Amino acid sequence: MIIFQRPEEMTQWSRDQKTLGQRIGFVPTMGFLHPGHLSLVEFAKMHGRCTQSVMSIFVNPTQFGPNEDFEKYPRDFERDRKLAEQAGIDVLFYPSVNDIYGKFARTLVEVEDMGKVMCGITRPTHFRGVTTVVNKLFNIVEPHVAVFGQKDAQQFLIIKRMTQDLFMPVEVLMAPIIRENDGLAMSSRNIYLNPNERRDAVCLSQALNKAQEMIAGGEVHSSRLADVMRTHIEKHASARIDYIAIVDTENLLPILQVQKNTLIALAVYIGKTRLIDNIIIS
Ligand code: AMP
Repeated sequence: MIIFQRPEEMTQWSRDQKTLGQRIGFVPTMGFLHPGHLSLVEFAKMHGRCTQSVMSIFVNPTQFGPNEDFEKYPRDFERDRKLAEQAGIDVLFYPSVNDIYGKFARTLVEVEDMGKVMCGITRPTHFRGVTTVVNKLFNIVEPHVAVFGQKDAQQFLIIKRMTQDLFMPVEVLMAPIIRENDGLAMSSRNIYLNPNERRDAVCLSQALNKAQEMIAGGEVHSSRLADVMRTHIEKHASARIDYIAIVDTENLLPILQVQKNTLIALAVYIGKTRLIDNIIIS
């Protein structure tokens, strides 16, 4: 596995690979890798037909708000390096904040509206930070395909909108959520949970399962689905709901009755840790 820190080296490698006819799959992450991250690399190979894989590890300061966990976000490059190598990743791109933003950076990329709802309400500058850094990373890596997890469904839909709006020459794919045995969506932030909180954290996926069962039984009304999910989550002492959203995947606007391509997403504080999860009705 090759490790690049400097953007120019990364770009040169990609261009060389392209002249050799390779198809490059790219998985951006903030590191502290878990099987969810690694599954995206497999997905790029299987569904994106990629022959070379690049993963970036970059804890992006511009997507954290002033009172969020940028400083304490878990970082362990040595651990990540081993996991990435075992997973057969070809290149790990590990730039510094200075490599990506320099001293003089003044440019931000923002998808209007879609970044202001759901997670954008408690994290108003988050998606602008994400789209800005993903743009930079795409320009550096020049991948054919980039894979993102459904875990962050709003993020994926915003990035997809951006690539379409800006005619970006990259295909973006969404890979399924990888879960712990009890259903909790894997996340680097799960290590913040104490044992009681870890037990309560399963209420997110349980609430979504309840909604899924109701829909399978013929329920279509968003308000009834949301009520059942809310009641279930509120039974857990450490849980505090940030939002439950039932929206159209095209524009993230609320819908009254679920249909095909409805996103049911939630964000819940478990103690001080904010967790997200979702399902898409297909
Ligand atoms: P992060 O390091 O949290 O920025 O995540 C990097 C990428 O991994 C994003 O595209 C996430 O959606 C994806 N991801 C994170 N957790 C999971 C998971 N449990 N299953 C699938 N993909 C995930």
